[in-house]
Amino acid sequence: MRGVDLDLGPAADRVRAEVRAFVARHAPGGRYPPDWGRRLAEAGFVVPHWPRPWGRGAGPAEQLAIDAELRALGAPRPLNPIGIGWAGPTLLVAGTPEQQARWLPGILDGSELWCQLFSEPDAGSDLASLRTRARRDGDVYVVAGRKIWTTFAHVARWGILLARTDPTVERHHGISYFVLDMRSPGITVRPIRQMNGAADFNEVVLDDVRVPAAHRIGAEGEGWRLARVTLANERVSLSGEGALWGAGPTADDLVDLVRTHGGVRDPVLRHQVVRVWAEGQVLRLIRLRTVSARLAGLEPGPEASIRKALADGHGQRVMATAVALAGAYGLLADHGPFGTPTGAWASGFLFSRALTIGGGTAEVQRNILAERVLDLPRDQASSRSAATNAS
Ligand SMILES: Cc1cc2nc3c(=O)[nH]c(=O)nc-3n(C[C@H](O)[C@H](O)[C@H](O)COP(=O)(O)OP(=O)(O)OC[C@H]3O[C@@H](n4cnc5c(N)ncnc54)[C@H](O)[C@@H]3O)c2cc1C
Repeated sequence: MRGVDLDLGPAADRVRAEVRAFVARHAPGGRYPPDWGRRLAEAGFVVPHWPRPWGRGAGPAEQLAIDAELRALGAPRPLNPIGIGWAGPTLLVAGTPEQQARWLPGILDGSELWCQLFSEPDAGSDLASLRTRARRDGDVYVVAGRKIWTTFAHVARWGILLARTDPTVERHHGISYFVLDMRSPGITVRPIRQMNGAADFNEVVLDDVRVPAAHRIGAEGEGWRLARVTLANERVSLSGEGALWGAGPTADDLVDLVRTHGGVRDPVLRHQVVRVWAEGQVLRLIRLRTVSARLAGLEPGPEASIRKALADGHGQRVMATAVALAGAYGLLADHGPFGTPTGAWASGFLFSRALTIGGGTAEVQRNILAERVLDLPRDQASSRSAATNAS
Protein backbone atom coordinates (compact mmCIF):
# COMPACT_ATOMS: atom_id res chain seq x y z
CA MET A 1 0.00 0.00 0.00
CA ARG A 2 1.53 3.28 -1.05
CA GLY A 3 -0.85 5.70 0.67
CA VAL A 4 -2.07 9.14 -0.34
CA ASP A 5 -0.28 11.88 -2.22
CA LEU A 6 -0.92 15.55 -2.85
CA ASP A 7 -3.13 16.82 -5.64
CA LEU A 8 -1.29 19.86 -6.98
CA GLY A 9 -4.10 21.08 -9.26
CA PRO A 10 -4.37 22.15 -12.92
CA ALA A 11 -1.46 24.64 -12.84
CA ALA A 12 0.81 21.76 -11.90
CA ASP A 13 -0.53 19.76 -14.85
CA ARG A 14 0.55 22.59 -17.16
CA VAL A 15 4.04 22.61 -15.67
CA ARG A 16 4.29 18.85 -16.02
CA ALA A 17 3.32 19.14 -19.69
CA GLU A 18 6.03 21.79 -20.14
CA VAL A 19 8.63 19.46 -18.60
CA ARG A 20 7.48 16.59 -20.81
CA ALA A 21 7.78 18.75 -23.92
CA PHE A 22 11.25 19.92 -22.82
CA VAL A 23 12.47 16.36 -22.33
CA ALA A 24 10.94 15.20 -25.64
CA ARG A 25 12.67 18.07 -27.44
CA HIS A 26 16.11 17.74 -25.84
CA ALA A 27 16.25 14.00 -25.26
CA PRO A 28 14.19 12.42 -28.05
CA GLY A 29 13.57 8.73 -27.52
CA GLY A 30 15.11 8.93 -24.05
CA ARG A 31 18.59 9.64 -25.47
CA TYR A 32 20.13 12.25 -23.19
CA PRO A 33 22.81 14.42 -24.84
CA PRO A 34 26.21 14.90 -23.15
CA ASP A 35 25.30 18.49 -22.23
CA TRP A 36 21.93 17.46 -20.77
CA GLY A 37 22.85 18.88 -17.33
CA ARG A 38 23.58 22.28 -18.83
CA ARG A 39 20.31 22.32 -20.79
CA LEU A 40 18.31 21.34 -17.72
CA ALA A 41 20.10 24.02 -15.69
CA GLU A 42 19.49 26.73 -18.28
CA ALA A 43 15.80 25.92 -18.29
CA GLY A 44 15.77 26.41 -14.50
CA PHE A 45 14.68 22.83 -13.90
CA VAL A 46 17.57 21.80 -11.62
CA VAL A 47 16.64 23.95 -8.62
CA PRO A 48 13.36 25.53 -9.75
CA HIS A 49 12.84 27.60 -6.60
CA TRP A 50 16.09 29.57 -7.03
CA PRO A 51 15.50 33.03 -8.53
CA ARG A 52 16.00 33.60 -12.25
CA PRO A 53 18.30 33.21 -14.11
CA TRP A 54 19.51 30.33 -11.91
CA GLY A 55 16.09 28.82 -11.30
CA ARG A 56 12.53 29.80 -12.15
CA GLY A 57 11.52 31.43 -8.89
CA ALA A 58 9.10 28.53 -8.58
CA GLY A 59 6.68 28.19 -5.68
CA PRO A 60 6.36 24.84 -3.89
CA ALA A 61 3.59 23.48 -6.18
CA GLU A 62 5.55 24.18 -9.35
CA GLN A 63 8.68 22.80 -7.75
CA LEU A 64 6.94 19.59 -6.78
CA ALA A 65 5.33 19.22 -10.20
CA ILE A 66 8.69 19.58 -11.98
CA ASP A 67 10.31 17.08 -9.67
CA ALA A 68 7.46 14.59 -10.05
CA GLU A 69 7.54 14.78 -13.85
CA LEU A 70 11.32 14.47 -14.14
CA ARG A 71 11.15 11.50 -11.80
CA ALA A 72 8.29 9.89 -13.73
CA LEU A 73 10.28 10.25 -16.96
CA GLY A 74 13.42 8.86 -15.33
CA ALA A 75 15.33 11.97 -16.48
CA PRO A 76 18.83 12.15 -14.97
CA ARG A 77 19.69 15.20 -12.89
CA PRO A 78 23.07 16.72 -12.09
CA LEU A 79 24.46 15.26 -8.88
CA ASN A 80 26.07 17.95 -6.78
CA PRO A 81 24.48 17.70 -3.34
CA ILE A 82 26.81 20.05 -1.47
CA GLY A 83 26.89 22.55 -4.33
CA ILE A 84 23.13 22.59 -4.67
CA GLY A 85 22.19 22.15 -1.02
CA TRP A 86 24.79 24.35 0.69
CA ALA A 87 27.16 26.38 -1.45
CA GLY A 88 24.52 27.60 -3.89
CA PRO A 89 22.04 28.92 -1.29
CA THR A 90 24.89 30.74 0.51
CA LEU A 91 26.09 32.32 -2.73
CA LEU A 92 22.53 33.41 -3.47
CA VAL A 93 22.25 35.07 -0.07
CA ALA A 94 25.70 36.63 0.28
CA GLY A 95 27.69 36.19 -2.94
CA THR A 96 28.53 39.16 -5.15
CA PRO A 97 27.10 39.12 -8.71
CA GLU A 98 30.60 38.11 -9.94
CA GLN A 99 30.81 35.25 -7.44
CA GLN A 100 27.34 34.05 -8.41
CA ALA A 101 28.13 34.20 -12.13
CA ARG A 102 31.42 32.34 -11.61
CA TRP A 103 30.13 29.48 -9.50
CA LEU A 104 26.39 28.96 -9.85
CA PRO A 105 26.36 27.63 -13.45
CA GLY A 106 28.89 24.86 -12.63
CA ILE A 107 26.95 23.97 -9.49
CA LEU A 108 23.70 23.68 -11.39
CA ASP A 109 24.89 21.67 -14.38
CA GLY A 110 27.04 19.43 -12.19
CA SER A 111 30.24 20.17 -14.12
CA GLU A 112 31.96 21.39 -10.92
CA LEU A 113 31.47 19.23 -7.87
CA TRP A 114 31.61 20.87 -4.41
CA CYS A 115 32.63 19.74 -0.96
CA GLN A 116 32.17 21.23 2.48
CA LEU A 117 35.11 21.84 4.80
CA PHE A 118 33.44 22.60 8.12
CA SER A 119 34.15 19.77 10.60
CA GLU A 120 37.52 19.43 12.30
CA PRO A 121 38.96 16.72 14.53
CA ASP A 122 38.00 18.77 17.61
CA ALA A 123 35.04 20.64 16.16
CA GLY A 124 32.10 18.49 15.11
CA SER A 125 28.83 19.10 16.94
CA ASP A 126 30.42 22.13 18.55
CA LEU A 127 31.47 23.59 15.23
CA ALA A 128 32.14 27.09 16.58
CA SER A 129 35.29 25.77 18.28
CA LEU A 130 36.96 25.30 14.88
CA ARG A 131 40.65 26.26 14.77
CA THR A 132 41.65 26.40 11.12
CA ARG A 133 43.24 29.84 10.70
CA ALA A 134 42.92 32.25 7.78
CA ARG A 135 45.45 35.07 8.06
CA ARG A 136 45.10 38.06 5.75
CA ASP A 137 48.17 38.83 3.64
CA GLY A 138 47.43 41.58 1.12
CA ASP A 139 45.02 40.24 -1.50
CA VAL A 140 45.00 36.72 -0.13
CA TYR A 141 44.28 34.78 3.03
CA VAL A 142 46.81 32.17 4.11
CA VAL A 143 44.89 29.20 5.47
CA ALA A 144 46.33 26.54 7.77
CA GLY A 145 44.53 23.75 9.61
CA ARG A 146 42.96 20.34 9.40
CA LYS A 147 39.46 19.37 8.29
CA ILE A 148 37.85 15.97 8.57
CA TRP A 149 34.92 13.94 7.19
CA THR A 150 35.02 16.05 4.03
CA THR A 151 32.72 14.21 1.66
CA PHE A 152 33.89 14.31 -1.99
CA ALA A 153 37.08 16.31 -1.21
CA HIS A 154 38.97 13.87 -3.45
CA VAL A 155 36.84 14.71 -6.49
CA ALA A 156 35.58 18.21 -5.75
CA ARG A 157 36.61 21.23 -7.80
CA TRP A 158 35.57 23.72 -5.09
CA GLY A 159 34.91 23.65 -1.38
CA ILE A 160 33.09 25.85 1.09
CA LEU A 161 35.41 26.49 3.99
CA LEU A 162 34.96 27.94 7.46
CA ALA A 163 38.13 29.36 8.99
CA ARG A 164 39.00 31.62 11.89
CA THR A 165 40.08 35.08 10.78
CA ASP A 166 40.16 36.64 14.25
CA PRO A 167 41.02 34.49 17.27
CA THR A 168 40.80 37.46 19.66
CA VAL A 169 37.04 38.08 19.48
CA GLU A 170 34.10 36.02 20.78
CA ARG A 171 34.43 32.69 18.96
CA HIS A 172 31.29 32.99 16.78
CA HIS A 173 32.38 36.39 15.50
CA GLY A 174 35.89 35.45 14.42
CA ILE A 175 34.90 32.99 11.67
CA SER A 176 34.79 33.75 7.93
CA TYR A 177 33.34 31.85 4.99
CA PHE A 178 35.46 31.09 1.90
CA VAL A 179 35.34 29.27 -1.38
CA LEU A 180 38.42 27.08 -1.64
CA ASP A 181 39.91 26.07 -4.98
CA MET A 182 40.61 22.39 -4.33
CA ARG A 183 43.48 22.51 -6.85
CA SER A 184 45.42 25.06 -4.79
CA PRO A 185 48.98 24.17 -3.71
CA GLY A 186 49.21 23.13 -0.05
CA ILE A 187 46.09 20.94 0.07
CA THR A 188 46.56 17.27 0.99
CA VAL A 189 43.49 15.05 0.72
CA ARG A 190 43.67 11.72 2.56
CA PRO A 191 40.82 9.28 1.94
CA ILE A 192 39.10 7.66 4.91
CA ARG A 193 38.04 4.08 4.19
CA GLN A 194 34.52 3.29 5.45
CA MET A 195 33.29 -0.10 6.58
CA ASN A 196 31.27 -0.54 3.37
CA GLY A 197 34.57 -0.42 1.46
CA ALA A 198 33.98 2.98 -0.10
CA ALA A 199 36.06 6.07 0.67
CA ASP A 200 33.60 8.90 0.13
CA PHE A 201 35.07 11.20 2.71
CA ASN A 202 38.49 12.45 3.64
CA GLU A 203 40.84 14.19 5.96
CA VAL A 204 42.04 17.45 4.39
CA VAL A 205 45.24 19.14 5.53
CA LEU A 206 45.58 22.81 4.64
CA ASP A 207 49.19 23.88 4.73
CA ASP A 208 49.43 27.64 4.17
CA VAL A 209 46.97 27.54 1.28
CA ARG A 210 46.61 30.92 -0.41
CA VAL A 211 42.97 31.86 -0.94
CA PRO A 212 42.20 35.07 -2.86
CA ALA A 213 40.33 37.60 -0.73
CA ALA A 214 37.86 37.76 -3.63
CA HIS A 215 36.86 34.20 -2.67
CA ARG A 216 35.57 35.26 0.74
CA ILE A 217 31.78 35.16 0.86
CA GLY A 218 30.23 38.01 2.83
CA ALA A 219 32.17 40.21 5.22
CA GLU A 220 35.10 39.09 7.33
CA GLY A 221 33.79 37.63 10.59
CA GLU A 222 30.39 36.91 9.07
CA GLY A 223 31.10 33.22 8.47
CA TRP A 224 29.12 31.87 11.36
CA ARG A 225 26.02 33.81 10.42
CA LEU A 226 26.34 32.59 6.83
CA ALA A 227 26.87 29.00 7.90
CA ARG A 228 23.65 29.25 9.88
CA VAL A 229 21.82 30.87 6.97
CA THR A 230 22.85 27.91 4.85
CA LEU A 231 21.87 25.39 7.48
CA ALA A 232 18.48 27.01 7.88
CA ASN A 233 17.90 26.96 4.15
CA GLU A 234 15.72 23.89 4.30
CA ARG A 235 14.23 23.29 0.92
CA VAL A 236 10.96 21.48 0.58
CA SER A 237 11.84 17.84 0.57
CA LEU A 238 10.68 16.77 -2.84
CA SER A 239 11.78 13.25 -3.42
CA GLY A 240 13.52 11.77 -0.52
CA GLU A 241 11.42 8.91 0.73
CA GLY A 242 14.39 6.55 0.64
CA ALA A 243 15.57 5.24 3.99
CA LEU A 244 19.11 6.61 3.60
CA TRP A 245 18.76 10.38 3.89
CA GLY A 246 16.02 10.29 1.29
CA ALA A 247 17.92 7.99 -1.09
CA GLY A 248 17.98 4.24 -1.48
CA PRO A 249 15.20 1.74 -0.85
CA THR A 250 12.17 2.40 1.37
CA ALA A 251 10.21 0.34 3.90
CA ASP A 252 7.58 -0.08 1.13
CA ASP A 253 10.23 -1.69 -1.06
CA LEU A 254 10.97 -4.09 1.75
CA VAL A 255 7.30 -5.01 2.11
CA ASP A 256 7.09 -5.54 -1.67
CA LEU A 257 9.99 -7.98 -1.44
CA VAL A 258 8.36 -9.81 1.46
CA ARG A 259 5.14 -10.08 -0.54
CA THR A 260 6.95 -11.42 -3.61
CA HIS A 261 8.53 -14.09 -1.48
CA GLY A 262 5.24 -15.24 0.05
CA GLY A 263 5.59 -13.58 3.45
CA VAL A 264 7.70 -14.18 6.52
CA ARG A 265 7.14 -17.11 8.85
CA ASP A 266 9.06 -15.93 11.85
CA PRO A 267 6.57 -13.92 13.98
CA VAL A 268 9.27 -11.70 15.49
CA LEU A 269 10.59 -10.79 12.08
CA ARG A 270 7.06 -10.27 10.78
CA HIS A 271 6.44 -7.86 13.64
CA GLN A 272 9.65 -6.02 12.75
CA VAL A 273 8.58 -5.67 9.10
CA VAL A 274 5.19 -4.25 10.10
CA ARG A 275 6.84 -1.86 12.52
CA VAL A 276 9.19 -0.36 9.94
CA TRP A 277 6.35 -0.13 7.42
CA ALA A 278 4.19 1.75 9.95
CA GLU A 279 7.09 4.08 10.77
CA GLY A 280 7.56 4.70 7.06
CA GLN A 281 3.91 5.73 6.75
CA VAL A 282 4.18 8.12 9.70
CA LEU A 283 7.25 9.74 8.16
CA ARG A 284 5.46 10.04 4.86
CA LEU A 285 2.55 11.84 6.54
CA ILE A 286 4.95 14.21 8.33
CA ARG A 287 6.56 14.96 4.99
CA LEU A 288 3.16 15.61 3.36
CA ARG A 289 2.28 17.88 6.26
CA THR A 290 5.43 19.92 5.73
CA VAL A 291 4.84 20.13 2.00
CA SER A 292 1.16 21.06 2.30
CA ALA A 293 2.03 23.76 4.85
CA ARG A 294 4.48 25.22 2.34
CA LEU A 295 1.87 24.96 -0.41
CA ALA A 296 -0.49 26.94 1.81
CA GLY A 297 2.19 29.62 2.16
CA LEU A 298 3.09 28.85 5.78
CA GLU A 299 6.64 29.16 7.09
CA PRO A 300 8.49 25.89 7.74
CA GLY A 301 7.64 24.62 11.22
CA PRO A 302 9.45 22.09 13.37
CA GLU A 303 8.29 19.14 11.22
CA ALA A 304 11.55 18.98 9.28
CA SER A 305 13.60 18.62 12.50
CA ILE A 306 11.14 16.10 13.89
CA ARG A 307 11.27 14.18 10.65
CA LYS A 308 15.06 14.01 10.68
CA ALA A 309 15.14 12.84 14.29
CA LEU A 310 12.70 10.04 13.44
CA ALA A 311 13.90 9.21 9.93
CA ASP A 312 17.51 8.47 10.88
CA GLY A 313 16.62 5.71 13.35
CA HIS A 314 13.97 4.47 10.94
CA GLY A 315 16.56 4.13 8.15
CA GLN A 316 18.73 2.04 10.43
CA ARG A 317 15.79 -0.21 11.35
CA VAL A 318 14.75 -0.68 7.71
CA MET A 319 18.26 -1.78 6.80
CA ALA A 320 18.63 -4.00 9.88
CA THR A 321 15.32 -5.69 9.05
CA ALA A 322 16.51 -6.25 5.48
CA VAL A 323 19.64 -7.95 6.76
CA ALA A 324 17.59 -10.08 9.16
CA LEU A 325 15.36 -11.12 6.23
CA ALA A 326 18.46 -12.10 4.30
CA GLY A 327 19.31 -14.80 6.83
CA ALA A 328 22.76 -16.24 6.15
CA TYR A 329 22.94 -14.14 2.97
CA GLY A 330 23.12 -11.12 5.26
CA LEU A 331 26.83 -11.89 5.61
CA LEU A 332 27.37 -11.20 1.92
CA ALA A 333 28.01 -7.74 0.53
CA ASP A 334 26.16 -8.30 -2.73
CA HIS A 335 22.94 -9.98 -1.59
CA GLY A 336 19.80 -8.50 -0.08
CA PRO A 337 16.72 -9.95 1.65
CA PHE A 338 15.83 -13.52 0.61
CA GLY A 339 19.18 -13.78 -1.12
CA THR A 340 18.17 -11.29 -3.82
CA PRO A 341 21.29 -10.30 -5.73
CA THR A 342 21.50 -6.62 -4.94
CA GLY A 343 24.15 -4.73 -3.06
CA ALA A 344 21.82 -1.82 -2.26
CA TRP A 345 20.48 -3.41 0.92
CA ALA A 346 23.78 -4.78 2.19
CA SER A 347 25.80 -1.61 1.60
CA GLY A 348 22.80 0.41 2.83
CA PHE A 349 22.92 -1.53 6.09
CA LEU A 350 26.58 -0.64 6.57
CA PHE A 351 26.04 3.00 5.55
CA SER A 352 23.02 3.37 7.85
CA ARG A 353 25.27 3.82 10.92
CA ALA A 354 26.16 7.25 9.49
CA LEU A 355 22.54 8.43 9.53
CA THR A 356 22.53 9.34 13.22
CA ILE A 357 25.90 11.14 12.98
CA GLY A 358 25.95 13.26 9.81
CA GLY A 359 23.70 16.28 9.40
CA GLY A 360 23.74 16.83 13.17
CA THR A 361 23.91 13.81 15.47
CA ALA A 362 20.77 12.21 16.89
CA GLU A 363 21.57 13.68 20.31
CA VAL A 364 22.11 17.16 18.94
CA GLN A 365 18.84 16.94 16.97
CA ARG A 366 17.06 16.10 20.19
CA ASN A 367 18.69 19.02 21.96
CA ILE A 368 17.44 21.30 19.19
CA LEU A 369 13.92 19.90 19.45
CA ALA A 370 13.96 20.19 23.24
CA GLU A 371 15.13 23.79 23.20
CA ARG A 372 13.51 25.27 20.12
CA VAL A 373 10.28 23.29 19.84
CA LEU A 374 9.46 22.22 23.38
CA ASP A 375 11.05 25.33 24.90
CA LEU A 376 12.79 23.33 27.60
CA PRO A 377 15.51 25.09 29.57
CA ARG A 378 18.98 25.06 28.09
CA ASP A 379 21.99 23.69 29.84
CA GLN A 380 25.59 24.68 29.22
CA ALA A 381 26.39 21.79 26.86
CA SER A 382 23.16 21.88 24.89
CA SER A 383 23.18 25.64 24.38
CA ARG A 384 26.56 25.19 22.69
CA SER A 385 25.09 22.50 20.49
CA ALA A 386 22.20 24.74 19.45
CA ALA A 387 24.65 26.59 17.25
CA THR A 388 25.68 23.38 15.73
CA ASN A 389 26.99 21.53 12.74
CA ALA A 390 24.12 20.09 10.83
CA SER A 391 26.27 19.27 7.82
C1 LIG B 1 28.42 10.35 6.19
C2 LIG B 1 28.95 11.63 6.78
C3 LIG B 1 29.34 12.65 5.94
C4 LIG B 1 29.86 13.84 6.45
N1 LIG B 1 30.25 14.81 5.57
C5 LIG B 1 30.77 15.96 6.06
C6 LIG B 1 31.24 16.98 5.16
O1 LIG B 1 31.17 16.83 3.93
N2 LIG B 1 31.78 18.10 5.66
C7 LIG B 1 31.88 18.32 7.01
O2 LIG B 1 32.33 19.39 7.40
N3 LIG B 1 31.48 17.36 7.90
C8 LIG B 1 30.93 16.20 7.46
N4 LIG B 1 30.52 15.20 8.33
C9 LIG B 1 30.80 15.38 9.75
C10 LIG B 1 29.59 15.60 10.62
O3 LIG B 1 29.07 16.89 10.46
C11 LIG B 1 30.04 15.36 12.08
O4 LIG B 1 30.42 14.01 12.17
C12 LIG B 1 28.96 15.66 13.06
O5 LIG B 1 28.71 17.04 13.11
C13 LIG B 1 29.34 15.16 14.48
O6 LIG B 1 30.59 15.63 14.86
P1 LIG B 1 31.71 14.63 15.43
O7 LIG B 1 31.81 13.47 14.51
O8 LIG B 1 32.93 15.43 15.69
O9 LIG B 1 31.12 14.07 16.79
P2 LIG B 1 31.12 14.82 18.19
O10 LIG B 1 30.56 16.18 18.05
O11 LIG B 1 32.48 14.69 18.81
O12 LIG B 1 30.09 13.94 19.00
C14 LIG B 1 30.45 12.73 19.67
C15 LIG B 1 29.23 12.23 20.44
O13 LIG B 1 28.89 13.20 21.46
C16 LIG B 1 27.53 13.59 21.32
N5 LIG B 1 27.37 15.01 21.64
C17 LIG B 1 28.14 16.04 21.21
N6 LIG B 1 27.68 17.21 21.70
C18 LIG B 1 26.58 16.90 22.44
C19 LIG B 1 25.67 17.68 23.22
N7 LIG B 1 25.78 19.02 23.32
N8 LIG B 1 24.66 17.03 23.85
C20 LIG B 1 24.53 15.68 23.77
N9 LIG B 1 25.38 14.89 23.05
C21 LIG B 1 26.38 15.50 22.40
C22 LIG B 1 27.20 13.35 19.86
O14 LIG B 1 25.81 13.18 19.66
C23 LIG B 1 28.00 12.07 19.57
O15 LIG B 1 27.28 10.95 20.00
C24 LIG B 1 29.99 14.00 7.85
C25 LIG B 1 29.60 12.98 8.71
C26 LIG B 1 29.09 11.79 8.18
C27 LIG B 1 28.67 10.70 9.13
